[in-house]
Amino acid sequence: MKIAIVGAGPRGISTLDQINLSSDQLTRESLDIIVFDSFDIGGSVWIADQNHLLIMNTPCGQATLFSQNTSKTPSFFDWIKSPNSSLAVKITKLTPNQKEALLTEIENLSATDYASRSLFGVYAKWAFTELVSMLTQKEISINFINQEVTSITVTFPNQFEVQTSSFTDSFSAVFMATGFPLNTLTKSENNLIDFAAEHKLTYIPAKNPSLTNLETIRPQETVILRGLGLTFYDYVTLLTQGRGGHFSIDDKGRYHYHKSGQEPVIYGFSRRGYPSHAKGSYEKDLAETMTPQFLTISYLKKLSPSSLSYQTFLKLMIKDLAYVYYTKSLPDLSKEELVSQLSNGHLDDNIKKQLLPHRIFDFDKLIRPESTVKPSDLDDFSSTIGDFLLDDATEALQGNQTSPMATTFEMIRDLRKSIRFIIENDLFDPSDYVNQFLGSFKSLNNFLAAGPAVNRLLELEALVRSNIVHFIAPPVEFKTSKNKFIVKNHWHSIEATTLIESRLPKESVIAANDNVYKKLLNTTIKPHTLDNANNLQTGAIAVERKTNQVINYENKIVKNLFIWGLPTEGLHFQTTTVAQTTPDNFFIKESQEMFKAFIQNINS
Ligand SMILES: Cc1cc2nc3c(=O)[nH]c(=O)nc-3n(C[C@H](O)[C@H](O)[C@H](O)COP(=O)(O)OP(=O)(O)OC[C@H]3O[C@@H](n4cnc5c(N)ncnc54)[C@H](O)[C@@H]3O)c2cc1C
Repeated sequence: MKIAIVGAGPRGISTLDQINLSSDQLTRESLDIIVFDSFDIGGSVWIADQNHLLIMNTPCGQATLFSQNTSKTPSFFDWIKSPNSSLAVKITKLTPNQKEALLTEIENLSATDYASRSLFGVYAKWAFTELVSMLTQKEISINFINQEVTSITVTFPNQFEVQTSSFTDSFSAVFMATGFPLNTLTKSENNLIDFAAEHKLTYIPAKNPSLTNLETIRPQETVILRGLGLTFYDYVTLLTQGRGGHFSIDDKGRYHYHKSGQEPVIYGFSRRGYPSHAKGSYEKDLAETMTPQFLTISYLKKLSPSSLSYQTFLKLMIKDLAYVYYTKSLPDLSKEELVSQLSNGHLDDNIKKQLLPHRIFDFDKLIRPESTVKPSDLDDFSSTIGDFLLDDATEALQGNQTSPMATTFEMIRDLRKSIRFIIENDLFDPSDYVNQFLGSFKSLNNFLAAGPAVNRLLELEALVRSNIVHFIAPPVEFKTSKNKFIVKNHWHSIEATTLIESRLPKESVIAANDNVYKKLLNTTIKPHTLDNANNLQTGAIAVERKTNQVINYENKIVKNLFIWGLPTEGLHFQTTTVAQTTPDNFFIKESQEMFKAFIQNINS
């Protein structure tokens, strides 16, 4: 039997881990596995020799590539703390500087720290080598073809032809773990490419910053970054520290930037105008999650499919956030009293009086901070953002169980279990899900709960003080004129020679610039829709929810064609993470369910 794994990122490696764990049930006949990726093992996100300054936004004690934590299949942190990590760094092809940086990192990391993506890349290579060795001992052959798959065709039931530019073969099963696609550019993005080419400017569409060539950007050149999430922080790091600048920290904990002289001048903007909040420093156990009082699984279990409106969801979520916020800011208030008052919709005025007005929980202000800025501060919006970064960092440093604000943001992450339950059980009203949740919730989640480690905010604040990074208050008008990119608001008009879309590609392969999916969409796979009459597409590929096997245009399961991860985002929730060591991890459960189905298929 031949198995193809398309993609050598965390899901590709996890597929191998499952083959290894199920090998007893798979090896009645000879087994050949081929892994395909045009990037090296680890995939396009976890490139071992990428810039060491780029860090993960998952604490290293939570990440793993294996479904069982053993000495041969250790979690990321257990691997870091074993001699295997420094040995692996020494034998990986890296520059001497990078090796040194990684070895120092290994010495110093604690479980709640954020490791470099490069180190996770070395771990991925090590994990792959270990899996190959374990599989080879079981006489399972495994090969890596360092090429892009260009086409997958269903030839017979349970037979798939997989092609690259120089290889074609037939497989009994295909596991597609292809991650982020390249988007098909919109008309306006194509116009920007043409405009940049015509005027010798630089335009960088949405993509992973470590795959971007920034060398053409000259020192002191004006660069516009459109988007202020995690990718913005990456670009700022690459264009400052990545160009030889460095930070010092004074005895009050304030960061100061020392220029190299190679930095461009950066202007950032977005619809909201504010960069993402920091992740709070970890105080709780990495596996511990806070329990909601309102969006509880027992409440959700009573709902029937399609019955939950986005407004009801939001109201319950806000109550849960207010609950954790007030348990931290009013520790003397009884929890029962708090739940009872929030259930009635508001806090008693006598209780509110105990708090300064700016300490009253106000969700609208939280997600629309731009609406609270005094008009007099809009002119010098960069210093408004500087203050915001310092305030947010102060809260984050207090910790995610002490600071009311940092605990609130942590709660958004802890509500993911309830949100996943809602999505996996189709509880949302379909139109609210597609038109509101998929847009609005993701944006607020990215802003409040998916930001970077706190030192990135302190660095950014120092860069604002050094006049290297500037922010432009919304609403901002963007245009091209004469031979420049221009961003303009009521107070300023900035002309730039480089425009970077500082965000990741859209989380959907439906309209992506990807030949494999384009062809499969014409022949075999179809978009996942929630409401056939209205053709409400979630952006996902239609797969059987439990097993991730493709559902074709005739609504039949295509046995042994598995697609998991980002191409199923919309049908599943939060597929853009690595596997975690936390109990009941969705990534790991998915991989196990797929393999149960696969074994059943081959035995039937
Ligand atoms: C810049 C960046 C930073 C991130 N940081 C974190 C983080 O800190 N923590 C976290 O949990 N998540 C992070 N993520 C999310 C990331 O999606 C997941 O961590 C994880 O990489 C998903 O694993 P995957 O295997 O599903 O996809 P990927 O890691 O994206 O791997 C997919 C692989 O498939 C390959 N592929 C695609 N099409 C083909 C084809 N036709 N033929 C052959 N190969 C193909 C790609 O080249 C790629 O290597 C980050 C993502 C990005 C882009």
